[in-house]
Amino acid sequence: MTMRLRQLEIALQGLEGFPDPRPELEQYPTPASLAARLLFLASGHGDIEGRAVLDLGSGTGVLACGAALLGASCVTGLEADAGAIAVASANAARLGVGVEWVEGEIGDLPPAVRDRVFDTVVMNPPFGAQARHADRPFVDAALAHGRTVYSLFNAGTLPFLGRYIAGRGEVLETVSARLALSRSMGHHRKATVEIPVECVRIRSLVA
Ligand code: SAH
Repeated sequence: MTMRLRQLEIALQGLEGFPDPRPELEQYPTPASLAARLLFLASGHGDIEGRAVLDLGSGTGVLACGAALLGASCVTGLEADAGAIAVASANAARLGVGVEWVEGEIGDLPPAVRDRVFDTVVMNPPFGAQARHADRPFVDAALAHGRTVYSLFNAGTLPFLGRYIAGRGEVLETVSARLALSRSMGHHRKATVEIPVECVRIRSLVA
């Protein structure tokens, strides 16, 4: 792997975000610095370069494009919102990387994901701020379709994660970080909020 953390951050910083973020889908783009950290955690464990990578809820494609830049052999992004896929696909073209974008619902996976097992899943799923437990179908799909999973979680939900995945996955490592969210939706009252998050590395026991 030749690209360095700072280079990746700069490449991802130039990408377009959600044109009209939809609150019900929790459309928050992962900031470039945090995306780069999650991807470097994965690549440091040998889980990106030369690997088949799946990004669940790929949004505008920050994680998927970053994985491609770090030398994944193929990258698939699954996303429910066609508008976000259009932006993601323009972002990939701008970076000159190839990603397979698949439109679909996490709870009703299309064949391009349903029938495959990937080496690595990366994701920044909905945290369940709008709909309780919205993160659960993402965790379920990640464990079913990825051997190793790298995901961001709200730090507050971490104690429940181990119990939720018991028998299906094992938390191997957690790295604390902060997620700065700038005001992007009408229901936000403050200009920016910072929430504690964890980058979590999970080994699937069922994929
Ligand atoms: N991975 C992107 C986006 C994170 S925001 C990034 O790191 O920047 C969460 C994403 O999950 C949004 O793009 C949202 O549209 C998508 N999403 C939310 N609910 C979904 C569902 N039920 N099925 C598929 N995608 C969903």
